[in-house]
Amino acid sequence: MEKNNNAQGPTHLHHREGLGGGSAIASFLEARGVKPTSTRLLVYRALAEHHHPMSLRELDDALDTVDRSSIFRTLTLLLAHHLVHVIEGGAGTALYEVCEGHDHCSLSDQHAHFYCTSCQRTFCFHSLHVPQPEMPAGFTATAINYLVKGLCPDCAASPVK
Ligand SMILES: [Zn+2]
Ligand SMILES: [Zn+2]
Ligand SMILES: [Zn+2]
Repeated sequence: MEKNNNAQGPTHLHHREGLGGGSAIASFLEARGVKPTSTRLLVYRALAEHHHPMSLRELDDALDTVDRSSIFRTLTLLLAHHLVHVIEGGAGTALYEVCEGHDHCSLSDQHAHFYCTSCQRTFCFHSLHVPQPEMPAGFTATAINYLVKGLCPDCAASPVK
């Protein structure tokens, strides 16, 4: 009678199957020219599994076994390979998230973010692509910070005052 849990089916896991296993991440990093050391795997996986972009402090809190300077060096490397994006959070903190481009990074993969001025959380709006501004001749855009500020549904429903 314990075989009941088959009925539930792991459908909710399918979304992340591509990134679920360490070996999948390892081969992904390798394909993008990054040697998959254990620290890089830990940092990348933490970012990939998190629902919000993370600050260095949040990553440091999430990864007990890696010190902050190693995390920072790893982020710098992942940024250089366009595997990770940095966004300017509403509170002036740099926030990191994985690039959602499949085989390369492009502006059209980037999405908008929302910063709640009340609870100070930053949300990803994955389905809201950033507008592509037409650049003056000679300028090449490589990243766009598109941050909307306001109140999230939780805070709008229960105003502080
Ligand atoms: Zn990207
Ligand atoms: Zn809020
Ligand atoms: Zn995001």
